[in-house]
Amino acid sequence: MNGQHLAEAEGEPAPLHGPAGPGVAERPVGVRRVYCNRSLRLDHVRAVGFDMDYTLAIYHQRHMDELQARLTIERLVGRGYPEDLRAVPVPTDFAIRGLLVDVRRGNVLKMDRYRYVKRAYHGLHPLSRAERRELYESRRLRPGVDRYHWVDTLYSLADVAVYAGIIDHLERTGRRPDYRQLFADVRLCADEAHAGGAVNAVMERDLARYVVRDPALGTTLHRLRSAGKKLFLLTNSRPEQTEPMMAHLLDGSVPGYSSWRQFFDVIVTAARKPLFFTDRAPFTEPNDPGAPVTELRRGRVYRGGNMADFERMLGVSGTDVLYVGDHIYGDVLRANVESGWRTLMIIQEMADELHALARHEADILHADELDHLLRLTREERRATPAGNGAAGNGRMAGLANRAVELELERDRLEAAIDQSFHPYWGSLFKAGSELSSFGAQVEQYAWLYTERVSNLGGYPANHFFRSPRALMAHEL
Ligand SMILES: [Mg+2]
Repeated sequence: MNGQHLAEAEGEPAPLHGPAGPGVAERPVGVRRVYCNRSLRLDHVRAVGFDMDYTLAIYHQRHMDELQARLTIERLVGRGYPEDLRAVPVPTDFAIRGLLVDVRRGNVLKMDRYRYVKRAYHGLHPLSRAERRELYESRRLRPGVDRYHWVDTLYSLADVAVYAGIIDHLERTGRRPDYRQLFADVRLCADEAHAGGAVNAVMERDLARYVVRDPALGTTLHRLRSAGKKLFLLTNSRPEQTEPMMAHLLDGSVPGYSSWRQFFDVIVTAARKPLFFTDRAPFTEPNDPGAPVTELRRGRVYRGGNMADFERMLGVSGTDVLYVGDHIYGDVLRANVESGWRTLMIIQEMADELHALARHEADILHADELDHLLRLTREERRATPAGNGAAGNGRMAGLANRAVELELERDRLEAAIDQSFHPYWGSLFKAGSELSSFGAQVEQYAWLYTERVSNLGGYPANHFFRSPRALMAHEL
C-alpha cells in the first residue's frame, strides 16, 4: 500500500493541488475525482461495461431539453391542446433528478431520504411551508402508487419542465388542466418524439450541438484494455442509433483503433435494461435475426440478450464486473441487486454541485451553527418555568424573540446557499441537512460515482478505491 492509499484510508482530506507526497502521483480532485461509497479494488475487476446515453455520450443538457420540449409541445398541439402552448416559455432549468410528480394535484416535490417533502411547486410557484404540511405531512408518501411519478432519468427532466410550464400558463390564463391527463399526454408525446425518431433525426444532423466529444475518453478505454480488462458496451439504444453516436465519440481518437468497435470485446444494443438483468431473452444478430447466438464475438453488434447468458459466454461472474451507467434504477440498482455487478454511476451534475459546495463551505458551517443555536434556545425556553413574575416573563419573551431571529437568519442563509446549488430545488444530493431521496439512492446503490467516464483514466488500473469509514450517530 502506498502513501496515497494510506492517506485515503485514514480519511485525510485530499490535497487541493500538487502531488500527494514524494514519489506519489497526483490524485484527481474535485470534479475529476471518482468518489467511493463502497470499497473496490480495480485490479479485481476483469470486465468493465458501459451504458451509452448520458454515460459514454455526454449531452448538452440544455440543448437536448429545448429540443425535446419543442417536439413534445408540437405533438400535444397536434393532439388537440390549445395552439397558444407553442409560445409557452419552457424553463428547461426547472427539473432535477430525484423529484416526484404528484399528478393528482399537478405538483412537483423534492423529498428527503425519509420521504418528507422538503420543497414543492405547483406549476412554477413554490408551495409555502404550511401548504406543504397540509398536503403531504399527514401521511407518509407512497411513491409506488400511480398518483406519483419518479423523475429518475435525465431524459425526463424536459417532461417535467413542459408539465410545470403548461400548468403555469393555463392557470394564469384562467384555464384549469386535468393534471393527471396532462402528465400522461406529456409523457406520451415525449415518448413518441423519441421512439418515432424525431429527436434523433434532429440530433444526428448536428451531433456537435447536442453531444460533447470528450477527448480523453478513447485513451481511458485504451488504458483499461491495456491493463487486461475486457470492455463491453451494453445499451438500450437500437443498433442504428448506437453506430453514429459511438463513431462520433470514439472514431479517430486513439491511433491503432480503426473504429469505435475495436475498443470493445462485446457490443450489446437494444438490451432492454433493466429486463436484461432478470429475463432470459436471447441474443440476436441484427443482420441475421433467426440464427442462434452461441458465442459473443469481438467486432459484432448484438441485440437483446440477458445477463446469465452474457456472463456465461464472457466467462465472468458478477463480482468480476464493473458496470458504468447513469440511471439509478436501470443501470445501477438492478445490475447490482440482480447480479452483484459493481457499479460506477455517472452523475453529470457533479460539476455544479461541487462548485456550489466549494463556494459556500463557510456558509454551510454557519447555517449548521445557527440551527444548533436555535435548538438550544428553544430547549431553554421550554425548560424555563412559567409564572416567575415580570422578570420571568421578560426572559421568556427574550428567548422567543431570539428563536425567531435565529430561525430567520438560518432560513435566509439556507435560501442563499440553495439558490447557488439550483434556483428551484437547491442541492441534488441534500435536502436541508438530510440526504435527498436521490442522494440516499446514490449512497445505497452506487459503489462509485463520478462526473464522467474519463475520470477513471486518472487512476492506476490497480487502484484501491476505499470507502470512508461509516459513522453511526453515537460515534459522532
Ligand atoms: Mg443512459
